[in-house]
Amino acid sequence: MPQQGPQDAGPGTGRTLVSGGSGFIGSHLVERLLGRGDRVTVVDDLSTGRRSNLPEEHPRLRFIEATVKDAIAVFGPGERFDEIYHLAAAVGVQRVLEDPIRAIETNVEQTSAVFRFATRCGPGGGAARVLITSSSEVYGKPSSTEFREDDDVLYGPTTVLRWSYAQTKAIDEYLALAHHARRGVPVVVVRLFNTVGPRQVGSYGMVLPRFVESAIYGRRLEVYGDGTQSRCFCDVRDVVEVLPRLLAESACHGRVFNVGSDEPIAIGDLAHLVIRTLGSSSEIHHVPYASAYPDGFEDLHHRRPSLERVRKAVNFRPKYSLVQTIVDLASSLREESSAGEGRR
Ligand code: UDP
Repeated sequence: MPQQGPQDAGPGTGRTLVSGGSGFIGSHLVERLLGRGDRVTVVDDLSTGRRSNLPEEHPRLRFIEATVKDAIAVFGPGERFDEIYHLAAAVGVQRVLEDPIRAIETNVEQTSAVFRFATRCGPGGGAARVLITSSSEVYGKPSSTEFREDDDVLYGPTTVLRWSYAQTKAIDEYLALAHHARRGVPVVVVRLFNTVGPRQVGSYGMVLPRFVESAIYGRRLEVYGDGTQSRCFCDVRDVVEVLPRLLAESACHGRVFNVGSDEPIAIGDLAHLVIRTLGSSSEIHHVPYASAYPDGFEDLHHRRPSLERVRKAVNFRPKYSLVQTIVDLASSLREESSAGEGRR
């Protein structure tokens, strides 16, 4: 008879662990999981996440402020989870460049701890199902304009720190796939492309919240380079809708999936779209790459996922238009700024 702990209420009740659950993507995922009736434990060290992204009180939500490695170390032997979503990671390549040692250690050590725990914390002391969020950065220097999951990858030399982020995410993927192959852990690896939406903030360099914030306050939108570089932006609410569906499907276990949008927009056009959508009086200012990235950071010209695999597997169909996302992101930034004023 497996040991029954305080969190073990029997099978089918959805005991779920979300690392990084108070971050931008994590908090939307938690909302979704609570919505389907799960009992959710969020572990987040609040390095970039915010407690206010989650409901203050919820009968099925437990919040632990810690790294997932530290939280796991103090979990009792009866702590059981059906599913683990491991989202905790260093956010954004720019932030990684500011503190590469911390970023490398965070990405590798935390994922390794999650998998050691996952092999024994599932129902009856078996393995829990685990989904990890990887990144389109894993593709490195693109060899084609459309990124497919089984593409070869090419990185720059180890003397260029920028590539450490991609490499640590690739190691996380190896850890996940090896645990599936050797220890029978049901895992899904998701490579997230540019994810945008409410609760996203501009402070980690991401273009859309930066543009929307500038447009709201009538400041100049800074387009790096000539603005012909393109990205595909997917609303976070579409992203979190598909993650639990991938993990629920046993045919998806042991596989890697791109998740995002496959409709590119040039960054210069994005700036115009934001201004138009929000009726802003802001102007667009082009910033040369050398000033935007004084450390010589190489910006990718195009990034577009192939979504064939995720479409086939779970019929992934994003619903939110980019215009809708811009409008909702603007409301969330406005709300946040008025809440901030209220707190002052
Ligand atoms: N970018 C920009 N202005 C900004 C921030 C970013 O023109 O204020 C550009 C950036 O050079 C890149 C694109 O927008 O070409 C997307 O940047 P982001 O950091 O959001 O995503 P990533 O480069 O990781 O895809």
